[in-house]
Amino acid sequence: MNAHRASGSQAGTLDEDENALAQWSRIDTLLRRLVTRLTYAAEGHAAPLDLTLDKIRSEMRNATDESTIEQLLHELTDAVRSLDDLVSPTPSVTLPPPEISPPDSAAGRDALLAVLDRLQLDETMLPYLGTLRAAIMETHELGGLAQQAEALASVVNRQIRQLGEHRQAAETLLAHVTEQLVELTEYVTRENADQRDGSGARQQLDHHLIHEIDALGSQMRQTNDLHFLRREVESRIGAISTHMKAFREREEKRERDWQARAQQMTQRIRELEHAAQSMELSLSQKQQQAATDPLTGIANRRVYEAHIGEICEQVRQHTAEVCLLVLDIDHFKHINDRFGHAAGDRALRIVADQLKARLRAGDLLARYGGEEFVAVLSGTSAQAGLRIAETLRATIEGIGFRGQQQPVSITLSCGVTQVQPDDTANSVFERADRALYLAKRRGRNRCEMG
Ligand code: GH3
Ligand code: MG
Ligand code: MG
Repeated sequence: MNAHRASGSQAGTLDEDENALAQWSRIDTLLRRLVTRLTYAAEGHAAPLDLTLDKIRSEMRNATDESTIEQLLHELTDAVRSLDDLVSPTPSVTLPPPEISPPDSAAGRDALLAVLDRLQLDETMLPYLGTLRAAIMETHELGGLAQQAEALASVVNRQIRQLGEHRQAAETLLAHVTEQLVELTEYVTRENADQRDGSGARQQLDHHLIHEIDALGSQMRQTNDLHFLRREVESRIGAISTHMKAFREREEKRERDWQARAQQMTQRIRELEHAAQSMELSLSQKQQQAATDPLTGIANRRVYEAHIGEICEQVRQHTAEVCLLVLDIDHFKHINDRFGHAAGDRALRIVADQLKARLRAGDLLARYGGEEFVAVLSGTSAQAGLRIAETLRATIEGIGFRGQQQPVSITLSCGVTQVQPDDTANSVFERADRALYLAKRRGRNRCEMG
């Protein structure tokens, strides 16, 4: 007996498989010879048996696979058994037994033992082979030997089948590994094509994968030891899996970082939007403040000056008819002197409110300075302007001011003028101001057209 091998295992080398198959093929030849020899040994004892043996020999020559040989051995066993029946006299038969000498079985037994010696079976079969050897040694009838040969043929067939399965398993494993390598190579190729952005992590992963695949490919080329190859495949796949895991973790971290940054950015954008809104509000408030007289809440002189410039332009283009009123509280100095500056402030606020209340939404009322106001009346002729000025004057005169529990008379004088096409902001104001001066000179609490 030579090298033994584990039954049903996929382990071993392909070279060993090739050697074993060659040996089994030689044993197959020996078995065929044995069957032929046994048929010759059994020949010449009975004419019908001879015909059967002749048929078995002929079919044996044409037999192509082990199962046919097994079948022929089976037929041989039956044929030789019938010979034994002929040799052993049957008690019921009354005729004397024919003169038949038992066939010589020594040649068949020796051939069978020779086959047994050349078998390379796995270890689990050794006790069975021992039993078979002992049985063959003790068998002297051809029928018994044929039975042993049939049993032996079954063992041979099983071993050949196992070898075929083993080869099949090895080929499947190699095909599977090759398939995986192709897939991994395609992945790396695809990744390489996709990752032209040069992501460090992906390049590193590609590098690891290529290394593992190259190493595995090189191991596969250098050895055909299935044990070793399997370990290599497992270890390389393990390494690839580790690289993939590390890569995935890095990617997930990158994703988390990116999300955190995105959230931060979103928050930052919200803050910026909020700040922009606040700034916008603050700017508009500041603009409002910049345009408003803080004491009275009406427009200030800056607003008036901007407005009157635009009005002059419109009038120059004959697209508007506008009057300018300059209103000044009479003897306001006395108010302050008599009732105090705070009372003077209150009086200024009341006058502003009343004037504003009498004007239209499209008119502009502004505090020009001190106790002096201007009103720009759009869509207003000179006559209409004078009438409105008179209304305003009468309104202020009619307010029942009181100071120190006493009724206090507060009046104003007004100069009125219509904006002319050749007017500038200064010229129109000077004309209105001259009219105001005239009103003052003519006794106050009155309106004059300029
Ligand atoms: P006239 O009839 O000629 O206009 O006499 P007037 O006293 O009104 O004119 P004048 O220019 O001599 O005095 C203006 C006064 O207005 C002087 C100043 O104390 C007062 N005044 C100016 N601005 C304010 C203010 O914001 N608050 C108060 N309380 N008084 C002011
Ligand atoms: Mg005054
Ligand atoms: Mg004044």
